[in-house]
Amino acid sequence: MITQLTVHALVEQFRRGAATPSAAARAYLDRIAAVDPSVRAYITVTPERALAAAAAADARWRAGRPLSPIDGVPIAVKDLLCTKGVRTTCGSRILEHFVPPYDATVIERLEAAGTVLLGKTNMDEFAMGSSTEHSAFFATRNPWDLARVPGGSSGGSGAAVAADLAAAALGSDTGGSIRQPAAFTGTVGLKPTYGRVSRYGLVAFASSLDQIGPFAKDVIDAALVLRVIAGRDPLDSTSADVPAPDFVAELGRPIEGLRLGVPQEYFVEGMDPEVEASVREAIEVLKRLGGRAEPISLPTTDYALAAYYLIAPAEASSNLARYDGVKYGSRAAGARDVIDMSSKTRAQGFGPEVKRRIMLGTYALSAGYYEAYYGKAQKVRTLVRRDFDAAFARVDVIVAPTTPNLPFKHGEKEDPLAMYLNDVLTIPVNLAGLPGVSVRCGFSLAGLPIGLQFIGRPFDEATLLRAAHAYEQATGWQTRRPPLP
Ligand code: GLN
Repeated sequence: MITQLTVHALVEQFRRGAATPSAAARAYLDRIAAVDPSVRAYITVTPERALAAAAAADARWRAGRPLSPIDGVPIAVKDLLCTKGVRTTCGSRILEHFVPPYDATVIERLEAAGTVLLGKTNMDEFAMGSSTEHSAFFATRNPWDLARVPGGSSGGSGAAVAADLAAAALGSDTGGSIRQPAAFTGTVGLKPTYGRVSRYGLVAFASSLDQIGPFAKDVIDAALVLRVIAGRDPLDSTSADVPAPDFVAELGRPIEGLRLGVPQEYFVEGMDPEVEASVREAIEVLKRLGGRAEPISLPTTDYALAAYYLIAPAEASSNLARYDGVKYGSRAAGARDVIDMSSKTRAQGFGPEVKRRIMLGTYALSAGYYEAYYGKAQKVRTLVRRDFDAAFARVDVIVAPTTPNLPFKHGEKEDPLAMYLNDVLTIPVNLAGLPGVSVRCGFSLAGLPIGLQFIGRPFDEATLLRAAHAYEQATGWQTRRPPLP
């Protein structure tokens, strides 16, 4: 089945003339029509746009002049990336009918590379959550077990790739929202270094943490997509002027002698024993491949979650102030005056988790509490960064679990703190601005995927991906498919 192919295998077919981008786009659209009613990965599907883009790609491949190594590849994007003329909801009622007048830089880059946009994927409202249950529209289901969540907040993108409803996808990661759903859906999910990828046109949650990255069926595909979206953008002053290497070419190098740090603090109390066993076994595999594993300590790990839940809500409370019924999105009817209009709009438009974050953030930033909460959290953030700096003086890559637990059932985590704890092992990476990737490292007895996380030095995605690729090649976990029609 063409929808089961990796991006690199699909493009190989385009090159040989064995398949066309139009055939691939149609196969994906058919599969979405057949399977997405049970997975519910997409908020919006864009068949006309996809088929038009695919037809143009057909002509380029026929002429032997593809725009890029991923020309004609069908891709899905999280519904917080602005797409000109295509509704961008951010999983929220307040943006339910918002149609952006421009494309995000990553969308422009994907289209300049010839890719085919299949649609926009479901997510937790404003990317706040770890299960995609906080979407204002519906919950996405985990393709490995439809009774379970796909993780979040980019759960729609993870589920789409796992269920072969897209060849690859984009998500965003503020505290784990690419890596945690990648672990839960058994996909490869890469959060690049802060500044590696332009955030222009990404609906902002916490601007000092947000970063866009790919979901893919294997590491090569993630590297291919990263190459296209990476690089300096004059429209995002935080995007870094660091050249993007040919990540795919780097993958071939062996990992012999690579120093791997295993942080003791990442094997937390209460962790699922099946997760721990798979991750420990993965480290043995890496050693057999010539990696030199050694224990390391990241002592501030315990405080990272608390610091994140001050910094991220603080930034969110400021970023979300713009949804006041005046310029963006919906406006409540029947208001007495402008204050009443804005307060009614926000009361009706935001869901409970978003309101909780706005209140937390506003409180943390208020006069009299600013130093005690926000100021302190910023100091902890510096310590987290220093822990990693010290570790990377000794090791090249850090290897750890992505999440402490397996995918949970819908409705299982009603207490907000229980939900927040999903990201204990991903959040420190965002606080430090580092790159991280999750790859499949096995399955629980019940058949649920388990994620292995690699963490790298700033802008060293190449080494990170190389280690992940070597592991993937040695084990072949990526070939197992979820039990769907
Ligand atoms: N689950 C975390 C939160 O709710 C991280 C979300 C994200 O990375 N966007 O804040």
